[in-house]
Amino acid sequence: MRRRLILKMIPAGVLAGLPTFAGAARAAGLVPAFRGTPRIAVGGIASECSTYSRIRARMEDLTVLRGQDVFKAPLSLPLQRYETPFLPTLTASAPSGGPVERQTYETLKADYLERLKKLLPLDGVYLMMHGALSVEGMDDAEGDWYEATRAVVGPDCLISAYYDLHGNLSRRAVDTLDAMTAYRTAPHVDRVENVMRATDMLTHCLRYGLRPGIVWASIPALLPGEQSSTEWEPGRRLWADLSEYNRLPGILDVSQLVGYVWADEPRAAASVVTTGTNIEEQTRIVTELAARYWDARHDFHFDSPTGTIEECLSRAMVSVTHPVVISDSGDNPGGGGNSDQTFFLQALLKAGTKNVLLGGMTDRPATDACYRAGVGATLPLSIGATLDPLMCRPVHVKKAVVKHLTPVTRPEDGEAVIEFAGITATLSARRRLYHSTESFRDIGVDPAQFKIVVLKCGYLHPTMKVLANPALMALSPGAINQDILHIGNHRRRPTWPWVADLNWTPEPYVSARFRRG
Ligand SMILES: [Zn+2]
Repeated sequence: MRRRLILKMIPAGVLAGLPTFAGAARAAGLVPAFRGTPRIAVGGIASECSTYSRIRARMEDLTVLRGQDVFKAPLSLPLQRYETPFLPTLTASAPSGGPVERQTYETLKADYLERLKKLLPLDGVYLMMHGALSVEGMDDAEGDWYEATRAVVGPDCLISAYYDLHGNLSRRAVDTLDAMTAYRTAPHVDRVENVMRATDMLTHCLRYGLRPGIVWASIPALLPGEQSSTEWEPGRRLWADLSEYNRLPGILDVSQLVGYVWADEPRAAASVVTTGTNIEEQTRIVTELAARYWDARHDFHFDSPTGTIEECLSRAMVSVTHPVVISDSGDNPGGGGNSDQTFFLQALLKAGTKNVLLGGMTDRPATDACYRAGVGATLPLSIGATLDPLMCRPVHVKKAVVKHLTPVTRPEDGEAVIEFAGITATLSARRRLYHSTESFRDIGVDPAQFKIVVLKCGYLHPTMKVLANPALMALSPGAINQDILHIGNHRRRPTWPWVADLNWTPEPYVSARFRRG
């Protein structure tokens, strides 16, 4: 019953789009080689961390699931469709933001490894990662996690990792893993499909006694995240045919990663990575796709007109159509931004703009103050710059009226709607996205009623996109500044676009484990 329910939750299109490993195995005349039930552990740590952020993710900021609770995460549900039970260890995840505090990481890693040891012997490990984890004082945190895993499980165990499209890969990571998959869509609408591709591949290899390996090409080109959508060209065509490669003999997966540009570290780069059992074919594919990506690098672009905060605001104020929806893209919490910057609010007040909705300001003390005052109260507020007081200064409002307070049981979940100086603003106790019309409906606000809507987000959510008339993207400062030519670039190897005339041809790399056979 439970299994049927879970399958029901997975869209039919997802199931239809999966590589048919079982069919391919039959066609290739493969005979199951594994005697008994393979033992597969599941665990991992996932976050997307901007090294330009001064905020640190501490233990209380992470969602940590241990033991059977691992299966409570929505992306763990597909694991329960297998006859082979996955053996849970620990999964940790933090919303996009600043680097993870070192002690928090070390504590989580020790807990995970302890749980992994208790499950030995293991035939496989499935790791739910992101690929852009940054830990204080450490380069390549994923590589560290994989090496620690390998040291526990030994050389014969297959380790497979699941990645976001915005992950960075290193030689150390590639040399430690046997298989990996990554999202093929941005915005990421194929999360469940990616889980199933990863776990189908791992269980298939164990069942038929296959020893897969990775061939990888790192591409020294990085893009602002908001240009990396697969909904418009060239992203649409570059990702559209990856599943076709899965049909080739000896190919188990082909993934293409944009990388994460706001990690100023040597491994930051785009990648093409293949998993399979055919080094020559994988090398050919990686070379072809990496060259194709490199050749298309100049064609990536933003989906809407861009400008500085002031330029976007000037344009919005003279617009004859409404609402003008402006993304405050450098402060987007969905990509790692602080979500408490006041640059846009300062510009709105300076320009005297009225009939404005400002969505997504994080400020725990101001939110708490609203709850203490109650709906209908008028109070003075200091808004913003509580998470990173060095980035900008707070805005002091003499009279803010509390229009809405969401009933919550924990203060950290609090959210308020306030009005002052012709501006309606959301306040939340923790960093969260206000980018869809639903997120405003829940707090009694209708974005369609405003002349200008400023959101701390990147490319617009589909529900907001249809409303925007027009949409603009402010290339605002912040931890994920989209104007990447002007962000600090100290630790990356020579990379386009910082090196505009960079010459490069693909250099496929066969993982150390694959070379050894
Ligand atoms: Zn992503």
